[in-house]
Parts: sequence; C-alpha cells; structure tokens
Amino acid sequence: MGRKQLVMIGNGMAGVRTIEEILKLAPDAFQITIFGDEPHPNYNRIKLSNVLQGDTTVNDIIMNTWEWYQENNIELFTGEAIVRIDTEAKQVISNQGRVVSYDDLIIATGSSSFILPIPGADKVGVTGFRDIHDCETMIKVARDYKKAAVIGGGLLGLEAARGLLNLGMEVDVIHLMPHLMERQLDPTASIMLKEELEAQGMNFLMEKQTAEIQGDERVTGLRFVDGSEIEADLVVMAVGIKPNVQIAKDSGIYVNRGIVVDDFMQTSVAHVHAVGECAEHREVIYGLVAPLYEQGKVLAANLCGVETKPYEGSIVGTGLKVSGVDLFSAGEIDDDPKTKSIKVHNEFDGVYKKIVIRDNRVSGIVLYGDTKDSSRLFRMLLKKEDVSGMTSVSILESGCCGVGSDSNDVATMAADEIVCGCNGVTKGTVVEAIQAKGLTTVDEVGSCTNAGRSCGRCKSLISDILAHTLGEKYDVAAKKTALCGCTTISRDEVVAEIKEKGLSTVKEVMNVLGWKQEEGCSKCRPALNYYLGMILQDQYTDDRDSRLVNEKMHANIQKNGTYSVIPRMYGGVTTAKDLMKIAEVAEKYDVPLVKLTGGQRIGLYGINKDDLPAVWEELGMPSGYAYGKTLRTVKTCVGAKFCRFGTQDSMGLGIDLEKKFERLDTPHKVKMGVSACPRNCAESGIKDFGIVGIDGGWELYVAGNGGTDLRAGDLFATVKTKEEVIELIGAFLQYYREHANYLERTSTWVERVGLDHVREVLANEETRKALNERLDKTLKKYQEPWAEVLENQDLQQKYYQKHEIPVLV
Ligand SMILES: Cc1cc2nc3c(=O)[nH]c(=O)nc-3n(C[C@H](O)[C@H](O)[C@H](O)COP(=O)(O)OP(=O)(O)OC[C@H]3O[C@@H](n4cnc5c(N)ncnc54)[C@H](O)[C@@H]3O)c2cc1C
Ligand code: SF4
Repeated sequence: MGRKQLVMIGNGMAGVRTIEEILKLAPDAFQITIFGDEPHPNYNRIKLSNVLQGDTTVNDIIMNTWEWYQENNIELFTGEAIVRIDTEAKQVISNQGRVVSYDDLIIATGSSSFILPIPGADKVGVTGFRDIHDCETMIKVARDYKKAAVIGGGLLGLEAARGLLNLGMEVDVIHLMPHLMERQLDPTASIMLKEELEAQGMNFLMEKQTAEIQGDERVTGLRFVDGSEIEADLVVMAVGIKPNVQIAKDSGIYVNRGIVVDDFMQTSVAHVHAVGECAEHREVIYGLVAPLYEQGKVLAANLCGVETKPYEGSIVGTGLKVSGVDLFSAGEIDDDPKTKSIKVHNEFDGVYKKIVIRDNRVSGIVLYGDTKDSSRLFRMLLKKEDVSGMTSVSILESGCCGVGSDSNDVATMAADEIVCGCNGVTKGTVVEAIQAKGLTTVDEVGSCTNAGRSCGRCKSLISDILAHTLGEKYDVAAKKTALCGCTTISRDEVVAEIKEKGLSTVKEVMNVLGWKQEEGCSKCRPALNYYLGMILQDQYTDDRDSRLVNEKMHANIQKNGTYSVIPRMYGGVTTAKDLMKIAEVAEKYDVPLVKLTGGQRIGLYGINKDDLPAVWEELGMPSGYAYGKTLRTVKTCVGAKFCRFGTQDSMGLGIDLEKKFERLDTPHKVKMGVSACPRNCAESGIKDFGIVGIDGGWELYVAGNGGTDLRAGDLFATVKTKEEVIELIGAFLQYYREHANYLERTSTWVERVGLDHVREVLANEETRKALNERLDKTLKKYQEPWAEVLENQDLQQKYYQKHEIPVLV
C-alpha cells in the first residue's frame, strides 16, 4: 500500500511537533505536505520575547531547519496560505492557486494577536506581538522613535514592554484591570511584580481603557475613555489572541471560539483534525505549548493507528520571561470558603508564596521571588497528591528538616513525569539521554532533548536529575548558575573578574562583563554592590541606589508605604532615659504602633518617609539595622549578673559582640544569641552564632536558623574566654562573607560547603588572623547611617522628600 497523503495547514509549534511525533511512530506511513503563510521554517515562538529583549537572534530560534524538512521528505510551502478546504473532494487550495489532495488533514493555524477594534488601530506604528515580523517592526521603530505604549499587562504585554525597554524606548503599559497578570497572580504577587517592573523602568497606567489611537497616518498617541491622553510612537496590542478559524468556518467545519475537537483532536468533519491554539477542546483553547504538545502526541498516535489515551485537558503552569522576575503560577489563585491556603510573604526578601489547598490537595500555586519549588509543587498539583499528612512547611519547601530533598524528589519521580513542560520532555527521556549519550551538563541535555530550551524554568530540575543519575560523576561546575537573567556569569566568576580586572563600581562590572540589561535588575545590583564591598573593603564607595529599598532608606518599608524605626539596644539592654525618648517620639509623631520585637528591642511602626530624619534626630540613638543584610541583634539572657543559674556574663559578651560587628555587610542577615547557661533562654541554638555559657568557658554554635528553614546550630568550638569567642566569630563571619552567595544564610551556606570544611580552614591560626584583619579593615569604613543622613542635606533631599523614588523590592 502506498503512503497516505497528509496535509497540514500551519507550520507552527503545535503542528510541527505533531509531525515529529508521527515521524517517530510511523516514518513511512505518510507523504506529508505543509503550508505555512510565514516565510520561515518552524521557529520557537516562545523565544520571540528573548529576541526582542536582545538575548538571542532569529536564527537561533529556528527549531526545524530547511534541511530537516528535506531529510524527512516533507514538502513545505512557506509564504503560502491555504484559503479554502474542500472537504467533499478532500482538497486544500492555496492563495497561489495550488490544489493539494489529502487523505487526512491537520489544521494547525494557531492564533493571531487580537487587535482592539478602536479608531486608529490601523495606523502605522500599531502592531501585535505574535511573530518574527512583529518583532522586526518593533526593533525598527525603536531605532527612530522613543515612546512606546503597550496595551495589556498580561504575560505577552510585559515581555514586550521589557523588550522595548531593552531597545531604549520609554515604555507605558496600559492595563484595564487593577492588577497585572490578574489571571495568574493574586493581588499581593501582582503588586510585587509591578514594583519590580517599575524599578526596571516601566510606567504603568492601571484601570485605563483605550478609546482611540491618535495620529494621521502614523500613531502619535493614545486617548483613554476617561479623557486623558499620552504620547506614543509605537503601540503594541497585547490584549489577547484570536484563534485562526476562518478557513475552517468557511469550509463547514464546526467552530465555536476555536475549531471544536473531540478527545482525539478530530473535528466535526471526517479526516479533518485540528491541533494547537486554533483548536477548542472541551470548551478550552490553550495558549501555552505544553498542552498543545500533549494534543499533538494524541493526534499523532491516532493518525498512526497506535493505541493512545484520549486527551482529557491540561492544567498549565506559567512563568514570565523577564530578567529579574522570578514567578510561577498554576491552577486556581483565589480562595473560596472551601479552600485553605498557605501563604508566606517575606517582604524583606521580596518573596511571596501562596499554595491553595482544596480537599487536601494542592489546587493552586503562586510563587514570586523564589520559584525553586515550582516543579515539585506543580507535580503535586498534577498528581493530586494528598497533603493531609504534611506540614505547611514541608509542603512549601523541599529539603526542610531533612524531608524531601531535591534528589529525593527526583528519585521518586516516575519516568513518564514531565520535566520540561514547554517541550513535553519526561524524566525518562532525560535520564535515557544522559545515560545513552554520556551527557554531563544542563546545556547538553537541552541540545539533545529540547528540555530547558524554552522558558528555562526546569533547568534546576534537570540539574537535579543529572546529579541523581550520575552520582559523584556529576561535575558540580556544570551546575553553575548565572547570577541573574542579566548575565550568564556565575557568582564565583563575577567575584574572580572583579578581582582580576580591578573593577570598582557596579556600573563598571555590568559594562565590562557585558550585562544584557544595562541597568541590571533587583537581583544583580544589590549582589554586585555586596561583592564589591566585600572585595574592596575600605576602598569601596557604597552604591546606595543599588541596595534594596529598606537598606537604601535605612528603615523597613511597611505594607502601607510607611516605615518602621527600630533603634539599637545593644544586647537587648536599655535605659529609662532611652525609653523616655522613645515614648516622647511615639507621642509627638502619633506613631500608630509601638512594639517589642523578637530581637529584644522596641520598634516604632507606621512613620512617614519624610518624618524619618526628624524621628531619628529626636531619638538620638543609632540604627538597629532591622532592615539590613548585616548583624541584626544579639539576644542575651540576664546571665550571671542576676540569674541564679548563670555561669557567665552573657549581657556583657552580647553587648561587645553587637558593638564590634554592627553595620558589617554580610551576604544575608545574621543573628546572634548569648545565653549564660545551657537552659538557653536567649535561644542560642537557632541563631547564626549562638553562644552558651558553661562552667569555665563558652560553647559556640553556628549556622542555626529560627526562620522558614528551621535549623539547629552545630557546635563549632568550646573556648575559655570571651576574647576567643569574638576572634572565632570574626574569622567565621569573614570566611562566610568571602565565600557565600549573596542572600545565602549561614545555615544554607554551611549545609552547602560542609561544617568540617569550615572547621578545617579556621583551625589554622594564621588564617584566622588574616580573616580578622580583613574584617577589621572593612569595619572601619562604616558610619552610623541615621546620623549620616542628618548631616547630609543631599541625602535628605534625595531619599526622604515626599516625591516618589524608584523602588527596588
Ligand atoms: C511572544 C510570545 C511568547 C510566548 N511565550 C510562551 C511561553 O513562555 N510559554 C508557552 O508555553 N507559550 C508561549 N507562547 C505561546 C506559544 O508560542 C503558542 O502557544 C504556540 O506557538 C502555538 O502553536 P500553534 O502551532 O498552535 O500556533 P503557531 O505557532 O502560531 O503556528 C501557526 C502557524 O500557522 C500559520 N497559519 C495560520 N493560518 C494559515 C493558513 N491559512 N495557511 C497557512 N498557514 C497558516 C501561522 O502563520 C503560523 O505560522 C508565546 C507566544 C508568543 C507570541
Ligand atoms: S540561660 Fe541560664 S543563665 Fe541565662 S537566664 Fe536562662 S537560666 Fe539564667
């Protein structure tokens, strides 16, 4: 029997993936003809955002080369659209009059950008964001014009806006709703996203409806329904997609919003199938590739006569391909009376996690700022795992309390579980490729299997699979991760380059090391500022604008935009005089909340930004750095001075430690506790440095953590004098400063490098001495920050006036 004629309309991602599946199952079953009205072979549409953002080129996103079509005997007609399907005669007719007969037909025409039907939408300078042509239009306009307006604050709109910023344009994003990406994010995550994007330079006009695009032949501006107007030289419509269904409709195939298909992608007409964004399955049209690839797999099997499970719909997970933004969302995002959600909002680190639980199963995920658990949580959601026996902490975090580490996660994954959602690559495929082809890096796995080559969210999971499959053979260097999306360089490489090339400012690092994004982002800028300060010690001039907002302001920003003020109380000890000052200030400024903090001090909450300098002046006390990546507090018990059980002067040592190490920049916050006996009233066991008095000496515990990653400290040393404690902590701190990643707590760092290693290094007296010398040199450079502001009118003007400043959260 000869080959059957298979014709496909549309040469895009879902369609060509279906053909690839067919070629795998039955390479000789069909004579394949493809029509695509774009002039290109199949390319990775997902990566258009990266092309626009300047991260890659059009050539690099081609997925199937011209040769691939030839090698597989596929007849390809590009730049040629099918205009009619004759379902009776089983023929398709192209806009060039070509007629091709089929035994089976696949419609894979995808979607087009939805262009708002408003006056002026046809002007020059108005475009969608769907294909290479749109990208080229934007890049061209950006060469001659300055002002861009993106209508739509969803995934595509924000990715387009980021690209236009990279092209040097000023960008206004107009959004109809009160929150960005409201279908994927709840209001909290959405606000965090908006703040980050504002810091990157986007301007948002929320709850605005566009009434008209102004200009003669080409666009000059926008007018909104409320009568306000803005200027614009380019308008990008990113308000949604419109499935390309017209030819199906005209040919008598049943169309609702999309071409209606059954669970095997069969349309209402025999031998005509539809797949991808043009298809409507159980009233759903999918706009992400993962479900479309699943559809393609089912359709391919069906066409090849291979038994297959029906396609029953998909749950999709979404990320955003904007550097500096780390988010993931899947499933339901809103609560209702039948859901219970776990929410963690760490404003300080800009991390928000919300897990919606329905009927003891994860039914929704919103992660912002830290998405390392997204694959694990998404798997739980897809597998409908019963979580009733788990704690909220073990649901939220892998590796907590020794439970469910990453490699355990990988070990328990079934072979057919999806690793790369975008490309539909399973764990089995990845493991097989690693073993059969001797792969050792994430990039090699990508080249071989496509995993991780689209949005890149699964790269850390691929790394875990490599580690699990190769065991000790897995080269840790291959796991290297870039500092952030602005660069491909890792932390260690950045530090080495700063030293080698003698770089001395954040800007210089970004210029010399070829940052993709000129201004960097809220991940790399504070990190670079830290690394430079750590390396250059007293020779470095701090770049205040590269710090996170709380450090920049030397006060903690609160939910409502006010700030908290927490003065130092060394060792948790205060005086009646200081208490009176605090009371006076609280009364005078009508402070809404005065509260004892967990670190044994008093916080004044709800202070307006422009009142901060006056409040500090009237308090006349140093900053308690309750906002900094630095030493926060040294909690002490009353100790031998008053307590019957005390064997040591805990308050005295606590005060000495706090006075010595205050203000020091560290990779993450550092907390200490000093208890005068093993009853441990100052909770020394869960501090970065916990000191416990014993008869005739002190025990030093390190790397404890009382926060989300609860960890008991490890006994590091037992010494006789408080001078020895201070010397040891100094050396430990400096070694941590020099080797940890920015934003890595001592607990995670010690887990990573091993306590024995640190012990070995610090066993050497010379090394300890050198570390302490470098530390002391650095400590000399710090000034009391509140007093510095009071003495400096420029700082007051710049940071503490009522006008808005760009916020890095
Ligand atoms: C900028 C951007 C970023 C994206 N980011 C992501 C992401 O991060 N993750 C994700 O999962 N998805 C993302 N997507 C969506 C993803 O690209 C689509 O879901 C996917 O490409 C749809 O595949 P498809 O084959 O159905 O349609 P398409 O890839 O659009 O292919 C359809 C093809 O058919 C052609 N065609 C239409 N009508 C005819 C005709 N009559 N004759 C001949 N040819 C015709 C079209 O020109 C097109 O080339 C993104 C999309 C864009 C535009
Ligand atoms: S830790 Fe010991 S010395 Fe300190 S307050 Fe508690 S019981 Fe007293």
